[in-house]
Amino acid sequence: MVWQGRADGFMVTPMRDDTRRWIEADKRHGWHPFTPQGAWTDLDHEPLVLTCGEGVWLWDSEGRRYFDGNSSIWTNLHGHRHPRIDAAVRRQLGEVAHTSYLGFANARASELAERLVALAPDGLERVFFSDDGSTALEVAMKMSIQYRQQTGEPERTRFAAFANGYHGDTLGAASLGGVSRFFERFRRFGVEVDFVADPAELDALDASALNAVVIEPLIQGVNEMRPWPPGMLASLARWCRERGVLLILDEVMTGFGRTGTMFACEREGVSPDFLCLAKGLTGGYLPLAATLTTPQIYAAFLGGPENAFYYGHSYTANPLGCAAALASLDVFAEERVLERLPEKIAAMGELLEKLARESGAVREVRRCGLIAGIEVGDGGGGRGAEVCRRARAHGLLTRPIRDTVVLMPPLCSKIDELEFAVRALAWALGE
Ligand SMILES: *Cc1c(COP(=O)(O)O)cnc(C)c1O
Repeated sequence: MVWQGRADGFMVTPMRDDTRRWIEADKRHGWHPFTPQGAWTDLDHEPLVLTCGEGVWLWDSEGRRYFDGNSSIWTNLHGHRHPRIDAAVRRQLGEVAHTSYLGFANARASELAERLVALAPDGLERVFFSDDGSTALEVAMKMSIQYRQQTGEPERTRFAAFANGYHGDTLGAASLGGVSRFFERFRRFGVEVDFVADPAELDALDASALNAVVIEPLIQGVNEMRPWPPGMLASLARWCRERGVLLILDEVMTGFGRTGTMFACEREGVSPDFLCLAKGLTGGYLPLAATLTTPQIYAAFLGGPENAFYYGHSYTANPLGCAAALASLDVFAEERVLERLPEKIAAMGELLEKLARESGAVREVRRCGLIAGIEVGDGGGGRGAEVCRRARAHGLLTRPIRDTVVLMPPLCSKIDELEFAVRALAWALGE
């Protein structure tokens, strides 16, 4: 279809020539994720063109500055243009940008695998790299399926997942997703999954046919930031262990300090069969993911070529991504990132409680570590977008999930920067 615009241009307000050009090219040829393109390409819609960043701040092509209130879709940890990570990526560019992990080792991937195993809960000793959160889940799914075939339990074919959960958008990962507005239309094209609302409902399933259970530990992200009750993860892990069901933890969002500890599962002393990591792995710099697993799973893939895991991507274990990830882990140690989180988490909590008390427009604040969902509407969905649009005018960038405004600042945010973000929200709510 031909783009339907006005002959006199794509935009209404005056702006720099570059900005106009970028927006025109975007509206003519781009296609954005999770985006109704009709509204996006509407003449009145003037998307921000983000052009640079430093620390928790982003600038658009018109020179306006914004607080990165959702960590660039939940990825950024230590801020933009962090000198340590920038230098590591530059150093790696001075060596090589990409080499194949199929048939070759690479220095950065070796170092990163070792570091991840040292950081992860006991029992996870193997690292399979891929590209993003969805592929980290695909890897766990396919590995668990093949594991059953190679350990004499081929009848264990079923997956169980939680209602309203989210695990990515590729067809396999989407099959595990319980958000019906995204996934229902694809249901019969994917893997069959049993959905449960809580662990108690698992008892109604035939556990002997279950291969694995997948969960976002401590808090469901896309489901409007809903924390699980304390103790739920530990009891789920026990349920799985007692029945020989594998446990896949999707820590794509919760990993790397977001909930206050390096990994969410540490909080309940749980070590899964598969730990899926992505978003924060490179500090929010480059697409890279990792699926960690146990010696027991790994052992089933030894033996002849017929037992190997035939899976991989062109950019598996990309050295630039691994270099960024290693530098991000260095930053955790050098800047004592985890030690400094409790103070920030408490400050953000107090700021949001105050916002809820004083604004009158907040229905509920849900939090876990530096992750917050601020429910502002009647559930209709329009209010969240409206609040985010207004907050933008006060220098805060974030996205709603329906009527829940997400506040997930980079871990490096200072308390006065958190105050800035919440003040912008307060103004937006007051308007
Ligand atoms: C974002 C996310 C994914 C998907 O990761 P992508 O990198 O977007 O493919 C999977 N699970 C959870 C919990 C996520 O938040």
